[in-house]
Amino acid sequence: MLIEDYVSVKEVSDLLKRMIKVKSVRGSETEVANLIIDVLDKEGIDSYKVIESSPGRGNLIIDINGAQGEGFNLMIIGHSDVVPAEGEWSIDPFGGIEKDGYVYGRGAIDDKGQVAAMVYFAILLHRPGRDFRGQVRLLIAADEEVQHPDHGVRYLTNNHPEVFKGVDGAIGELGGKVNFIGESRHLVIFGEKGALSLKVKLLGDKGHASAVYKVKNSVEFLASFLHELPNSIYFKSRCVAEMFKNVLGWKSNLILNRILNGLVINSISRKELKFARILHSLTHVTIAKTVLKAGRAENVYPKEAEAILDIRFFPENDKDELIKFIKKFIPKGVRSELEPIAYTPSTYSPLNTSLYKAIEKTILDLGSKPLLFFQTGTSDSAWVRMLGIPVYHFMYTENELDTDRIHGVDERIRKDELLNIIRGYYHLLMNLQ
Ligand SMILES: [Zn+2]
Repeated sequence: MLIEDYVSVKEVSDLLKRMIKVKSVRGSETEVANLIIDVLDKEGIDSYKVIESSPGRGNLIIDINGAQGEGFNLMIIGHSDVVPAEGEWSIDPFGGIEKDGYVYGRGAIDDKGQVAAMVYFAILLHRPGRDFRGQVRLLIAADEEVQHPDHGVRYLTNNHPEVFKGVDGAIGELGGKVNFIGESRHLVIFGEKGALSLKVKLLGDKGHASAVYKVKNSVEFLASFLHELPNSIYFKSRCVAEMFKNVLGWKSNLILNRILNGLVINSISRKELKFARILHSLTHVTIAKTVLKAGRAENVYPKEAEAILDIRFFPENDKDELIKFIKKFIPKGVRSELEPIAYTPSTYSPLNTSLYKAIEKTILDLGSKPLLFFQTGTSDSAWVRMLGIPVYHFMYTENELDTDRIHGVDERIRKDELLNIIRGYYHLLMNLQ
């Protein structure tokens, strides 16, 4: 099928431009959904619904059932919220502006470009008569950038299990072409680290600053604790090791050896600090010390001092074990209170599923090779994987995306990539038949 016979770049980019004009920062996702619904109504597609977690915070679900009967039920997940547009933009970030073959604006890549392609993928299937088996379900979620438990995908997994019922596998946001050691590859993210925000409160005596003899000062306790606590611990996760072997071959032994790991990362860091940091994060549980609170008056010892730690870990790491490890660094005899304030599990999907095989075949068919990746940040996919659904992030593009503009200034996407994304989805669906 020639995609251009059924869908034009103009209609996809027009929808994208209209969506960019909705400033859906921590809200207004329903307004984005309504723009899409307008397009669907004109096509005669009525199999959609909006589920709001609160007014304005809508998640849009669109079902396209194949006319050829039962088959693989594929979900594609994108999101309609964006991060704020800070910094010095050269154009209006919410203007929906087109320039030199690019659509500019906040969300052009992350993630409204993908969402526009998802919508026109549905239309591409619908226009010639839905000639496929199974179902395509699009989930255009709210609140991905915040991942609050009461909104978006987390809200849906907790309150609307029907959205995920019968789904055989899902595609998460982004991916695209990357240059890997001089070779063209396409990213397939199959797992991600987990995140635990832990509040550590240390208790001492409250007292006047004029006396220090035998005083239990919570500020000193906290300083000593933070000094002793390392910011990372080497850890070889089984799925990450598998990824390194797949991507680097024999060279993976250098990264995966506890002793060589530090030497290799250190030598890479002199030339490529960014890459060294990624390698480090992939082979270490990290403990970032991010927030400190203690004291109000300069002449009084505060009774308590607290720190917040942002801990990133692997599927094998148990939350209680991590907390136990942290506790070992609290100075002896000091009273403490540890409280987890946010938690996202670390998850991954196996590579022996029919969906992964179809993604791999799609990338090869389109003339590239997959680049497996385990991401160090969290995403909505963790909550979907927790339901037992395999999730991979995959998107087909012919050029590298301007990923450094994601969450930065002058975010943009090449207009013709929108059709390439659709091409990738279509090819994938055909490989699942
Ligand atoms: Zn995103």
